[in-house]
Amino acid sequence: MYDVVIIGGGPAGMTAGIYAARAGYKTVILETGAPGGQAATTETIENYPGFPGGISGPELMMKFYQQTINLGVEMIFQHVTALEALGPVKKVMAGETVYETRAVIIASGARPRVLGVNGETKFRGRGVSYCATCDGFFFKDKDVVVVGGGDTAIEEALYLSKICNKVTVIHRRDQLRATKIIQERALKNERISFIWDSVVDEIIGNEKVTEVSLHNVKTQEKQSLKVDGVFVFVGYIPNTDYLPVEITLDERGYVVTDKQLQTNVPGVFAVGDVRQKSLRQVATAVGDGALVISALDKYLSN
Ligand SMILES: Cc1cc2nc3c(=O)[nH]c(=O)nc-3n(C[C@H](O)[C@H](O)[C@H](O)COP(=O)(O)OP(=O)(O)OC[C@H]3O[C@@H](n4cnc5c(N)ncnc54)[C@H](O)[C@@H]3O)c2cc1C
Repeated sequence: MYDVVIIGGGPAGMTAGIYAARAGYKTVILETGAPGGQAATTETIENYPGFPGGISGPELMMKFYQQTINLGVEMIFQHVTALEALGPVKKVMAGETVYETRAVIIASGARPRVLGVNGETKFRGRGVSYCATCDGFFFKDKDVVVVGGGDTAIEEALYLSKICNKVTVIHRRDQLRATKIIQERALKNERISFIWDSVVDEIIGNEKVTEVSLHNVKTQEKQSLKVDGVFVFVGYIPNTDYLPVEITLDERGYVVTDKQLQTNVPGVFAVGDVRQKSLRQVATAVGDGALVISALDKYLSN
């Protein structure tokens, strides 16, 4: 019987593990892949404090991992398939194995929806990005495209317009889905231009991205653009498919929590990118991981 099972070993889950272990709780983290989650897939992280020259994502996450296990947190590499969340003893299923625990922290993160075109995987981190706040700075005074037309895409295009020389938004419809006020800001912005009714066919380059090819879905006309970066914002998918129906999700599938990071089910908490929140970054994931322990502490003491 564990005091707490943490589902997901990204920055949020590992930080929660560090705080739980230091509070004296018997803790295990269950992780599908390698430690570090999305943060381990990014080449350089420049906005996480403490590393003035930036640090590679995998290196930062290995430091998190070392610290987590040094403090006595068990980390088991298994994929969680189901959760029985109601009642004082919760059951976390990972294939054939069942973990019994008094509390659960959901830290299974999210993943960016990909376009699925040629060149996207090859140039990920070498011109293809899913996060303007993270990578925009690497494209200072350069020409980039943003793919998408929702709130995130247009907010990120506005953010990039402050850094880049030129931002071209490629959208598969003839109007944006983003809220009116954000749309108006983008449509008025001199550094942002739009290519409507179009989808990206291929991302092309050598060492880094140099070009995208696209076609108009109405006229079938093809064109290519010389670019340094491709920012893809066609949605995020929260990793919540193993959660039971009792746990409330928002309309986009993110776990809803209160300010103490408790879900609607007593003894079940959620931290990091998997929960409904306004900024998904390593720093905010770490903040959640630390904060959740005070509510966990109250729950377990009762
Ligand atoms: C390309 C890219 C670049 C980024 N760059 C930056 C940056 O420069 N700076 C910054 O601050 N942020 C950056 N981010 C965002 C940052 O990585 C995330 O906000 C952060 O990793 C969220 O941490 P998390 O622990 O909540 O979730 P995640 O990092 O998503 O980790 C969740 C973990 O849970 C595991 N998991 C999922 N489902 C299960 C399951 N069923 N069973 C067991 N384990 C499971 C996953 O394998 C994963 O390891 C970037 C993101 C991406 C995609």
